[in-house]
Amino acid sequence: MARRPTITDAAAAESAGKEPVEIKDVAAESSEAEAPVAKKPVRKTPVKAKPAPKKPEPEEDEEDDEDEDEDEDDEEDEEVVPVYTAREAVGAFTGLFRFVWPYLTKYPKWMMIVLAGILIETAFNVAFPMSLKFLIDDVLQSDNDNAQKTLIWLISVLAIGGVIVSIITVYYEYIDSLIVSHTMADIRARLFEHLQSLSAGFYSRTKIGTITSRFGSDMAAVDEAMTHLATWGLLPLFELVAGLMLMFYLNWQLALIALVLIPVAFIGPRLLSGRAVDASYQERRAAAGLFGVVQENISAQNVVKAFSLRGISIGWFRERNMVERHHAVRSRFINALVERSVTISVMVLHLIVFGVGAYLTYNEEITLGTFITFESVFWELSYNIGHVTQFIPVSITASAATKHIDDIFHEPARSQDPPGAPPVPRIQRAVTFSNVNFSYGGNEKQISDFNLVVPAGSRVAIVGPSGSGKSTVLNLLMRLYDPQSGSIKIDDTEITISSRDSLRAQTGIVFQENVLFDISIRENIRLGNPGATDAEVERAAKSAEIHRFIRSLPQGYDTVVGERGNMMSGGQRQRVAIARAIVRDPAILLLDEATSALDHGTEQAINKTLAKVAAGRTTICVTHRLHSVTDMDTIFVMDKGRVAESGNHRQLLKQKGIYWDLWKQAG
Ligand code: ADP
Repeated sequence: MARRPTITDAAAAESAGKEPVEIKDVAAESSEAEAPVAKKPVRKTPVKAKPAPKKPEPEEDEEDDEDEDEDEDDEEDEEVVPVYTAREAVGAFTGLFRFVWPYLTKYPKWMMIVLAGILIETAFNVAFPMSLKFLIDDVLQSDNDNAQKTLIWLISVLAIGGVIVSIITVYYEYIDSLIVSHTMADIRARLFEHLQSLSAGFYSRTKIGTITSRFGSDMAAVDEAMTHLATWGLLPLFELVAGLMLMFYLNWQLALIALVLIPVAFIGPRLLSGRAVDASYQERRAAAGLFGVVQENISAQNVVKAFSLRGISIGWFRERNMVERHHAVRSRFINALVERSVTISVMVLHLIVFGVGAYLTYNEEITLGTFITFESVFWELSYNIGHVTQFIPVSITASAATKHIDDIFHEPARSQDPPGAPPVPRIQRAVTFSNVNFSYGGNEKQISDFNLVVPAGSRVAIVGPSGSGKSTVLNLLMRLYDPQSGSIKIDDTEITISSRDSLRAQTGIVFQENVLFDISIRENIRLGNPGATDAEVERAAKSAEIHRFIRSLPQGYDTVVGERGNMMSGGQRQRVAIARAIVRDPAILLLDEATSALDHGTEQAINKTLAKVAAGRTTICVTHRLHSVTDMDTIFVMDKGRVAESGNHRQLLKQKGIYWDLWKQAG
């Protein structure tokens, strides 16, 4: 049986997302589309195969009846699972190549070096067995006086050649690692840049784990295939061709038999690889679901602890783990079958070639040297067939991963401002919504026939029951979405046809949850206005009444806040966020439930600060906390996507309508 290394399975690391997620949705939300199933081929040595690590045995699976079908409500699960034909599976290599080619072309010089290195190594690996023929026929079995000289000459050439080729292979492997690392970095960069251009709609309908899995398991799969492309894909392929040519040179009849029989070795992969692709894809989906559970569990640890959900969480995890295990067994076993079918075919093939060769030698139709060399070349050939076919599952996994990455690349980038889009001038008179209709998709309108006028410099609040569309109004004003009809103007300028940057340059927003990046407090504030000087940053912090606290920290403004700003209290984080919003000196200040997550005392204190920083700015405050808006110039009460009532606090209470109800409920 042909000696060849096997493939060991290795799970690639998955990057977990970070956003908090409602724990109740874990089961439904956690089934996402990709997971790591990276294969680790053993690297090829120039001449013979190393013994390979043993592939893990497929586990016994008692709970095989578990299935992924419970995930129907998950958005990406509605995606049709592709059913690959064997042909498409064989085309996995082409798919991978097509994906990476545009990145590879950036490095033509390096590619040429690697290609030349592979050709030289191929030539040497073919010349090595050829020397056997000379050794046996012209030296060992020769009475010639020059035999000893020829022997020394032969060994010297091989030794010198071996040293040179070894140096060349080390060099081209170095260049190859440069190409692969640069290419992977380029793909990651392009992916990240593309993500920055995607719409708010994309982010609201896509789970974090799905996006991060592109950077984790998918990139790991592509990396794996790319790492072994030269030594597991190209080198064996070239050696196959060169070996065949050598076999024809040695004895065409024997070579013809081998040539006719070699395709038999590929029957197994052709029949099975369609299933292998599907099994691998299913496993990636199941494992992504599993990572989803882990990610959500980590994000929701406080809820898990507070509600003693440990047992339930472990139950969810086990359930997912078993689904993943079921798919992993199937995927591994089918992939192993693909490989095994090749070794069995090669063994049969070899027996036939060996028998015919031995017969021809016995009848002195070929020399002993030719027979032994032929055998040696055949070993090399079958070994290379093994390599090529082992590369198939690796490229299948990588191809599935590129498809998953491509799903993101195919996501249309957020529509760009049309060339020459006029800037929105700094507000002088009013923000006006006229007959605005908007839907996030589906039949229901989230904003319907919406009218609103906010005079410049005024402080208004938008209140109303949860889900009435308050935040959506801010989304429209920030142009995270554009309305389907109606107009939104700042003074006389229609914002939907103007430049987004100019609009956003004059707005500052404070959310309920404000992400603080893992950089210094100073830089966190400066994100609001990258051009701000240190003095301006500190002035903003003073206005947000957080300056003294920052100064009290051992590193002051240079204190790194820690991931998500967990080392600061909710109120302190809000104040940093306020400083970030006002360091850009916004004409329009938007507060989206900015104090809703705070305790009453902190809320009151921050509201006082906000009232101060709002002076001279147009302020729109969206909140469901009526106590924080009683002093606003105008309060708009929303209901089902419309303004149902408006007026100041006292006027609204007199109306005894929705506001009055809400006020009573608020106590
Ligand atoms: P409010 O701020 O008053 O609580 P929102 O403006 O957040 O309400 O939401 C209004 C409606 O729009 C709700 O029914 C909500 O489920 C829906 N909605 C909000 N954001 C999205 C989104 N990104 N995609 C789809 N529907 C959304």
